[in-house]
Amino acid sequence: MLRRASGAPRRSGAGHGAPASDGDGGSGRLRAEGASASLVAGLAEAGGAKPPGVKIDIVTIFPAMVQASLSEGVVGRAAGRGVLDIRVHDLRDHTTDRHRVVDDVPFGGGPGMVLKPEPLFRAVESIRATRGTPRAVILMTPDGRRFSHAEAERLSALEHIVVLCGRYEGVDDRVRQSLATDEISIGDYVLSGGELPALVIVDAIARLVPGVVGDEASVARDTFARGMLDFPQFTRPAEFSGMAVPPVLLSGHHAEIEKWRRREALRRTLDRRPDLLSDAQLDEADRRLLHDLLEQRAKE
Ligand code: SAM
Repeated sequence: MLRRASGAPRRSGAGHGAPASDGDGGSGRLRAEGASASLVAGLAEAGGAKPPGVKIDIVTIFPAMVQASLSEGVVGRAAGRGVLDIRVHDLRDHTTDRHRVVDDVPFGGGPGMVLKPEPLFRAVESIRATRGTPRAVILMTPDGRRFSHAEAERLSALEHIVVLCGRYEGVDDRVRQSLATDEISIGDYVLSGGELPALVIVDAIARLVPGVVGDEASVARDTFARGMLDFPQFTRPAEFSGMAVPPVLLSGHHAEIEKWRRREALRRTLDRRPDLLSDAQLDEADRRLLHDLLEQRAKE
C-alpha cells in the first residue's frame, strides 16, 4: 500500500495531488499523477512506526517518466516494503511565476536554453526543510565523474541523497558551484535529459542497499562486485538447439560447480576486462586457477 510519508506537506496546484496507490497490494507501484509523489510505501500499517529506509529525492521536469520506471521491479518492490524511501519532485513546483518557467536563454547568446538556478536551489531547500539535510546532492551531467560500481557502493552507504536531472543545454553553472556536492556522468555520450542517467544510478545504488535485492548473495557475486566479471549462467533446458549446458552444472557436485564458476569468471575477465584483475579480490585458489589459465593460453 502506498502512503504519503508522515510529515510530508500536501501539495496543491494544477493537477498535482497526493501520491496514489494503484491498489497493487504493496508492490510500490505508482500512478504517475502527482508532481511530487512518494514511493515510500510500506510505512507502517498502524501509526507509521516503521523506520524509513534510504532516502532518495529526484528533481526533474518529467516526474511521470521517472516514477513509471521506479515503481516497477526490484526498486518498486523495495519501496513498497519501505526499504527505500524515494520521492520524485517536479521542478516546476518550485517556480514562482504563473507559467512555471524553469529555463531561460544563455547569457552571451548561443543555441538552446539553460535550466535556471532558482527553481533548483528552491527544490533542494524544500527537500531539506521537509526531509532533512541530504548527505549528497548529485547533478547528472555528461562532463561529471564517470559512474562506477565503487561510486554506487559509496552512495549506497549514505542515508539520504538528492539527484538533480538537467535538461536542454544543461544547468546554470551556479548549481555546480554551490548546490551540487557531486557531478556524475553515466558515460561518454549525451542524452537529452538527466532522467535516464538518474534512473541508472538510482537502480545501481538501490541494489546495494541491504534488503533491496531478495538474495544478497547474488549482488555480492554480480559483475564488478568482486572486481571481476560474472560467470556464464544457464537454465533449462539442458540441451537447446544442439547446445548443451556444461555437464558439471548438472552434476550436483557443489564444490566442483563453484570451482568451475570461479574459473569461468576468471576466464571471462581475462578475455574481456583484464584491466580489472589487478584490483580483483583473488584468493589462493583463484590465483592458481588464473595461473593455469595463463599457462594454457601461452601454449595455445
Ligand atoms: N550541453 C551539455 C553538454 O554538452 O555537456 C549537454 C546537456 S544534455 C542535452 C541535458 C542534460 O542531460 C544534462 O544537463 C544532464 O543532466 C543530462 N545528461 C546527458 N547526458 C548525460 C550523461 N552521459 N550522464 C549524465 N547526465 C547526462
